[in-house]
Amino acid sequence: MTDTPTPSAALPGDELAATRAKAGQPVVMAATQRDRGIGPFKRLVLRGATVIDGTGAPPIGPTDIVIENNRITLMKKATGNLSTAANRVPAGDHEIDCRGKWVTPGFIDCHAHAGVAYHSANGWVPPVDYVYKLWLAHGVTTVREMGSMNGLSWMLDQKQRSAANTIAAPRLLAYAYFPAVNDMLKTIHSPDEGRAWLRKLKDRGADGVKFFGAPPAIMEAALDECGKLGLRSGCHHAQMAVTRMNALTTARWGLTSAEHYYGLPEALFEDRVVQHFPLDYDYNDEYFRFPVSGQMFRQGAAPGSAKWNEVLESFLALGFTFVPTFTIYDANRDLMRARQADWHKDYTWKSMWNYFTPQRGGHGSYWYRWSTTNEVEWKENYRRWMAFINEYKNRGGRVCTGSDSGFIYSIFGFGYVRELELLQEAGFHPLEVIQAATMNGAATLYEPMHRSPEIGVVREGMLADMVIVDQNPLQNFKTLYANGTIRLNDKTGKVERVGGIKWTIKDGIAYDAKKLATDVQAMVEKQKRAPKKTTTAAQ
Ligand SMILES: [Zn+2]
Repeated sequence: MTDTPTPSAALPGDELAATRAKAGQPVVMAATQRDRGIGPFKRLVLRGATVIDGTGAPPIGPTDIVIENNRITLMKKATGNLSTAANRVPAGDHEIDCRGKWVTPGFIDCHAHAGVAYHSANGWVPPVDYVYKLWLAHGVTTVREMGSMNGLSWMLDQKQRSAANTIAAPRLLAYAYFPAVNDMLKTIHSPDEGRAWLRKLKDRGADGVKFFGAPPAIMEAALDECGKLGLRSGCHHAQMAVTRMNALTTARWGLTSAEHYYGLPEALFEDRVVQHFPLDYDYNDEYFRFPVSGQMFRQGAAPGSAKWNEVLESFLALGFTFVPTFTIYDANRDLMRARQADWHKDYTWKSMWNYFTPQRGGHGSYWYRWSTTNEVEWKENYRRWMAFINEYKNRGGRVCTGSDSGFIYSIFGFGYVRELELLQEAGFHPLEVIQAATMNGAATLYEPMHRSPEIGVVREGMLADMVIVDQNPLQNFKTLYANGTIRLNDKTGKVERVGGIKWTIKDGIAYDAKKLATDVQAMVEKQKRAPKKTTTAAQ
């Protein structure tokens, strides 16, 4: 039994989920009870940690960190004569020995989905506990849920439960789907309707809005209204809308962040206004949509050109944010690698795997006749895309980490860590990667409404959201994967798996990350043996 809220088409933010539910697609099973995590403690002491604080500052240690309930109250260098009481912080009612370990802020996923109901096309949809546990197991303590595809009612309920820590989940920020999309769901038909809808959305407690593009007059009014209401916004500039407003257009209208790459190549066009679509293109045929997307950056201004610089400067002047989610298109560069990832066997839910497998009608399942040429084009696309994002960062622009997992062979949590690897590939120093994953994410979520976010940096006064690892993540982000990474032990001549996060602390509650990963493995194993045709509702 569950008390998963059912979406109602009458409520702003629930429209898409209600429509899909009516068509027989069940919403993802909500989490109801926390079964992991210790604390919060009156006084938790992390002893002797090497701290990577999230600001970009280099590691420093050993440091004793005191957490009282859910807040960091003291950080003290544990140096000098440690047998002298004055040099140590007094004992806590719980302690974690962090000597030889690293502590970072909890990671922030700025583009994620709390389960994907689409997977019901291929069987039993993983309950959101699967998703939450994978996120926490990979150090993700805050998630900007982009679209509330299970309905805003569902999302707000989960957000509230997470805030109360009655479920094991990261902090959740609810961004609602803006229903003015010509080719998806459109219940808003005028700028005034858009403004009225946003006011109701704000009253309901949403944090922001996810746009897929809308008629320009509606979009411009909506972004203006978001600014007035203090609602944040992100846009996937879908191809059906982008010819009338690219990422720079919407940035000028007040958009907070551009999601993925869409709308950026269009802003870089100088010898065309419309992407070079093949003449037999059909947007509904994803085989067209994704290979042709791989040709886009080459159609825009070349790196270093006058136009390239002008576009960079324009975004910088607006204080705009990019959430590239490199990870979600990674399979386009090397499909075989994505299909053979080390974690699929133990962690990938069967209906998800089947959903990813080429099939007509699925979203992101477009590998009908994937080719060498497709991969070569996508590799070139990434080179230019990464060059832009890296340069944007170098000139002072804000870039955040998002995963968008649940599609295209990308698994929750694992896909997030892969994003860290890809930012490094783009040219980010590992400290810049951590900064994007923590401090920058917090700024995007909370500024300018709260001038100093309470998460994203390990510092006295901040909320106790952090990650504890026994391998230096700066030396190898692969050690953050729940199943670690392989390493040759020269003493034994054997290959071992090292890494995996030790503890993820959210709101002063310490989660044993290995136990979370084990829970997920057990869930995956159980559903493999489940009889066919089990649906979410029957669980
Ligand atoms: Zn998404």
